[in-house]
Amino acid sequence: MAIVLGCIADDYTGASDLANTLKKAGLRTVQTIGVPAADYRLPDVDAVVLSLKSRSIDPAKAVALSLEAYAWLKGQGASHILFKICSTFDSTDRGNIGPVMDALLDKTGDDCIIVTPAFPETKRTVYMGNLFVGHVPLNESPLKDHPLNPMHDSNLVRVLQRQSKNQIGLIDLATITKGASAIKARMKEMGRDGVRAVIVDTVFDADLAPIGEVAADTHLSVGASGLGLGLAQAFVKRGRGGASGAALANLPASAAACLAGSCSQATLGQVAAAEKIMPVFRLDPADLMERRAAYLDEIVAWATERLPQGPVLVASTATPDRVRALQGRFGQAEIGHAIEQAMADLAERLVEKGVRRLVVAGGETSGAVVDRLGVPGFVVGPEIAAGVPVLGASGYRHDMLIALKSGNFGGPDFFADALKLMA
Ligand code: ADP
Repeated sequence: MAIVLGCIADDYTGASDLANTLKKAGLRTVQTIGVPAADYRLPDVDAVVLSLKSRSIDPAKAVALSLEAYAWLKGQGASHILFKICSTFDSTDRGNIGPVMDALLDKTGDDCIIVTPAFPETKRTVYMGNLFVGHVPLNESPLKDHPLNPMHDSNLVRVLQRQSKNQIGLIDLATITKGASAIKARMKEMGRDGVRAVIVDTVFDADLAPIGEVAADTHLSVGASGLGLGLAQAFVKRGRGGASGAALANLPASAAACLAGSCSQATLGQVAAAEKIMPVFRLDPADLMERRAAYLDEIVAWATERLPQGPVLVASTATPDRVRALQGRFGQAEIGHAIEQAMADLAERLVEKGVRRLVVAGGETSGAVVDRLGVPGFVVGPEIAAGVPVLGASGYRHDMLIALKSGNFGGPDFFADALKLMA
């Protein structure tokens, strides 16, 4: 069946968050890394989230990439395209939200579309067009000092107008609270006056349902996971989604391994807890820096010997004091990069040895592992912990389950919880 919702996400972690939100709302969802190759076979799903790295690149490049993504999603039958941006509207006066929106709007030809980065559940709200981060307006939040996209104006109508060749308008909370038909009528009126995109106020979780309902009747919208949730609810109401159908992967008893390259507080505790239930190799970064190849061979041999008996964990996880000492000795970037690449090497070699269930702790570490394995996409499965789903590799040469956790996510028994759900 054709997909109903195609999402173009301007960064990878935002894409994962959206994919997880759509799945939880009831849409069967795949997240792909970049625009899939021609031979990629999409499983039977309702939604695809295509992850780009287009948030802070040259606007012309972001437009070209997004149009390529658009063409691919339309080829899969997507009836609605969500351009997924950051919930703090990360952008500059050059873009990239406005230029990408304009280019997509030229393609879909909608009279007027919905734009909102709000997600009240995560304390991103929009009132009278002003974006609030927690209790403060965007321009008073830490985003004012963002190294790439400092946000000095909380009024999104103005912010987007500076980036777009189209006329931008506002639909305020008074109209939103009147429900979907009132929003639709107002959009129609504004569309007649030449407004092509409206920032819609979104203050309460309940606002997302009527907003999603109206957005679902157009071909394009711009927003974050909150709008994704509203859209998913609308499509589920219209009969899409439901039971997840096929299993995430066809895995007869197969080896499982965990890799931890995170030194976050939560991961420190999780590695200590894992030591009680599986063999743990404490990777010594100094050894790695001094005799990389031989050391990695030793770790692979250690793991290979133990894998037939059950899962193993390799962890570089260390306390802040130890991390500081290592950084002082080898350089912060150098040691970080070396450990990430070591984890990627280990993942690749363990998969060669038959590992088909892989749990990775650490955001950057996960990125390095996924890049190295070259997995083109993931079917989103059940959640292990808030924000951390089990992922089924899609279009990869092996059937495989993967969990990718950024540092501070998950409860104390995260590794056991993950392996239980991946069994
Ligand atoms: P998190 O999600 O917790 O931030 P990341 O994987 O994103 O985890 O980042 C952790 C960084 O710390 C990586 O670059 C990793 O290679 C590096 N690292 C891991 N272990 C050590 C260590 N023992 N000493 C110094 N750096 C480390």
